[in-house]
This record gives sequence, C-alpha cells and structure tokens, in this order.
Amino acid sequence: MSQHDPNCIFCKIVQGAIPSRKVYEDDEIFVFNDINPWAPVHFLMVPKDHIPSLAHVGPEHAALLGKMLALAPKLAAQNGARPYPEGGHRVQINTGDDGGQEVHHLHLHVIGGPRPWRRG
Ligand code: ADP
Repeated sequence: MSQHDPNCIFCKIVQGAIPSRKVYEDDEIFVFNDINPWAPVHFLMVPKDHIPSLAHVGPEHAALLGKMLALAPKLAAQNGARPYPEGGHRVQINTGDDGGQEVHHLHLHVIGGPRPWRRG
C-alpha cells in the first residue's frame, strides 16, 4: 500500500491530483518534467511513497534507490540527453535547507542536454 502525505505537492503529483508532464511510471517510481527547468533535459524522479529526504533513507530503501539510479541514464537518453561520454547528465539530490531542498519529498534531479546549464 502506498503511503502519501496529504500536504505534499509531489504526493499529489504521484496521485494525479496535480497535473504533471509524466516521463515514466512503475509500481514504485514516478518521473515527471521539472516545471522550472535548469537545462534542456530536466526531470524529477520520486518514490511513490512519501520519503521526506535522502536523510530518511535506510537499508530498507536500498533496492528502490538502486533502481532509481540505474534508471536515470536510460531516461535521460530517452528524453534528449546525448550519449555518454560526450553527452551524459547530472543527478542531484538536494537534502535539507542547507542542501537547497524546497520540496520535502525525496527527488532526484536529472539534468542534461547541451551546456551551459542554469544553476539550480
Ligand atoms: P530547488 O527548488 O532549490 O531545486 P528542490 O531540490 O526541492 O529545491 O527541487 C524542487 C523542484 O521541484 C524544483 O526544481 C521545482 O522547479 C520543482 N517543482 C515544484 N513544483 C513542481 C510542479 N508542480 N511540477 C513540476 N516540478 C515542480
């Protein structure tokens, strides 16, 4: 059973209560384009369950996080990032206030495409 926080914007996106431009979905992961992209390719990968941040991840989440990381390059390539090594992409996880996290639902920023990119 999925665990959602009724006050969380990304939980609302996962549930379809707030519209998004979906990139990918499976039983545990939802991926959608960032509404304010820093780069030509910029999507967010989130667990469907509400995990507030990377600081809340434990051993029980290892398989989920591994799956998300392995999926990132594939989705980047499918969505316009040039192939490695000339192309590639960046994966960024902002954690906590000092880490620049504004939405407190764990998310991977995946950014790519021709540089320069705007800083996030
Ligand atoms: P920051 O805003 O500093 O990047 P985060 O790492 O928490 O902080 O990133 C939140 C991201 O969520 C931002 O890049 C923002 O543009 C994106 N975002 C916020 N609301 C939406 C939305 N409704 N749909 C898509 N992306 C969103």
